[in-house]
Amino acid sequence: MKWINRNDSEANFEDRRGRSNKKAAVGGIGVIVIVVIALLLGQNPFQAVDMVNRVAPGQSEELTDPSRANENEELKVFTLGVFNSANDVWTEIFRTQLRHNYVNPTLVTFTDETVSECGGASAAVGPFYCPADEKMYIDLNFFHQLKSDFGAKGDLAMAYVTAHEVGHHVQKLLGVIDQVNQYRGQISETEQNRLNVKLELQADFLAGVWVYHAQKMNMILLEPGDLESAISATTAVGDDTIQKKSMGYSVPDSFTHGTAEQRTYWFRKGMQTGDISQGDTFNDPGLN
Ligand SMILES: [Zn+2]
Repeated sequence: MKWINRNDSEANFEDRRGRSNKKAAVGGIGVIVIVVIALLLGQNPFQAVDMVNRVAPGQSEELTDPSRANENEELKVFTLGVFNSANDVWTEIFRTQLRHNYVNPTLVTFTDETVSECGGASAAVGPFYCPADEKMYIDLNFFHQLKSDFGAKGDLAMAYVTAHEVGHHVQKLLGVIDQVNQYRGQISETEQNRLNVKLELQADFLAGVWVYHAQKMNMILLEPGDLESAISATTAVGDDTIQKKSMGYSVPDSFTHGTAEQRTYWFRKGMQTGDISQGDTFNDPGLN
């Protein structure tokens, strides 16, 4: 994959590389200092403590490691380029086909661990999208793992990962995530997993739709081997592959992302048609 036009804007980018949040206990010296200051100022100390708690709910203390602030810089530039490209593509599709306003999500890069409105995140979780704060979180070291542990090499393999997460944002804006969440707690775990698989397969399809339009809008140029590279990533992160790798067998009922074959099918369909109306993974018998 080659860039024809790369958008390097950092307007929707939050760089937390080299920073990590360590939870500190509430109370102790900090609170005593506040109480003393409040008394000196003639304020109600309890009100002051309450205010502090409201301002810093997690009482997290930020640790910085400047030596890691620019870690994986090349991967950051690439990922930000894909992220911006995906937002530009979706802005256009929303405007022309959905008559709906597209709101950009935020890309957050971090090292080792960070916090999100969906809870704490560690590198072990892998890249994810949090619907509550509309941010995509990624520890860029994941891409080294994608190559070494899953054998997914090449630029389109990495681009697919980012485009998939932006696909979840599209689902959030279109209300698909809310619809799936409505059923949570009302249906069996097996049914819930089945719905989650459809949600994931649709994000794969939307990643494919990005590839189609990013080429058409002169942002990227595909090269020989790119499709195979992306397919190796969809295959590598298929639940059956991961489960076989970690447990030696696969358990269909607990699949939450879909099999390698399903993920490849939907990604390829999006990439070949570029047509959002063909991505109804919930009702399309396809390979489901
Ligand atoms: Zn996903």
